[in-house]
Amino acid sequence: MDDHKENIHSADGNVNVSNGDDDNKLKEDSTVCPKEKEDAPRASNSDFSHAVYKEISLANGQINRMSKEELRLKLSQLKLDTRGVKDVMKKRLKSHYKKQKLAVATADDGQQADACYDYICVVDFEATCEEDNPRDFVHEIIEFPMVLINTRTLEIAGTFREYVKPELCSKLSDFCVKLTGITQETVNAAQPFPLVLKQAVKWLEEKELGTRYKYTFLTDGAWDMSKFLNMQCCLSQIRYPAFARRWINIRKAYRNFYKVPHSQIKLSTMLAKLGLQYEGRPHSGLDDSRNIARVALRMLRDGCRLRVNEQLHGGLLTPAPAWAAEEGAPPPRCPGNRR
Ligand code: AMP
Ligand code: MG
Repeated sequence: MDDHKENIHSADGNVNVSNGDDDNKLKEDSTVCPKEKEDAPRASNSDFSHAVYKEISLANGQINRMSKEELRLKLSQLKLDTRGVKDVMKKRLKSHYKKQKLAVATADDGQQADACYDYICVVDFEATCEEDNPRDFVHEIIEFPMVLINTRTLEIAGTFREYVKPELCSKLSDFCVKLTGITQETVNAAQPFPLVLKQAVKWLEEKELGTRYKYTFLTDGAWDMSKFLNMQCCLSQIRYPAFARRWINIRKAYRNFYKVPHSQIKLSTMLAKLGLQYEGRPHSGLDDSRNIARVALRMLRDGCRLRVNEQLHGGLLTPAPAWAAEEGAPPPRCPGNRR
């Protein structure tokens, strides 16, 4: 369903994106759920000699020795989600005990998910394509969807979708229509990208994101921003929007959190390992975004600290620096024209 993100080739030289294989090229972002710290509570404002850390460590050891059936039984007794593969269940149970024990130790009610950002905005662009996209194929965005997650209530707070009229090559390939379900009539009736971007900015502003509320973007892989949006901005002769410079790549966060091997990470496997099924039509941008949001919500409920982990810096895809992880995106603004 989503292996294409490894298949799409880079644009030619006039579009400044990093070549190569999505997040293969990136080093692991040490700021996001680092392996060595994964099972231990965060040390900030804490003293690791506190007895609670020993208790958590003992509980983790016991959980590591549990069979899949024992894990399922325990999760069910605790009225927690019993779906997913063994590693997912282990992580869920560990997170539960960690939260519970720390809540007792700090007299916190332990109910709130880790909410660094008030909102996380999931984006999954659809773009023009051909079968086995040629190396120099220039993708134009044809669907711009967003799904907004409220990280406090763990609910979907709103959705946005606009189709986009491609300008360089206005005729969609049969392959593209079949893949995305987006028809020629739909894009003919749509507005060009700069106008759709304006609408998207307005929608984000109305939600008071970046002003009243702290927010960031989240995508499935790095391509949505580093490739599709970057390339589209070059084509539309507008600057890359500052508010979309950093984002959470959910594949990296998922891999680090549930300890899943790199090769297995794509939307269909992320869902399957959580015991969830894809809902809707694969390659519909809005349905893809909704399903990505379901994975993100499950991770937040399982105790994952979702943090910005990638960025476009000087036109190149790089891991986000540690200091940026806790920062929200700036207020949305329409970018100016390129000179
Ligand atoms: P996705 O988010 O998986 O729907 O993919 C985003 C975009 O990548 C699509 O709109 C297409 O432009 C391109 N794409 C996805 N899958 C393929 C594929 N199998 N072959 C060529 N391009 C693809
Ligand atoms: Mg998609």
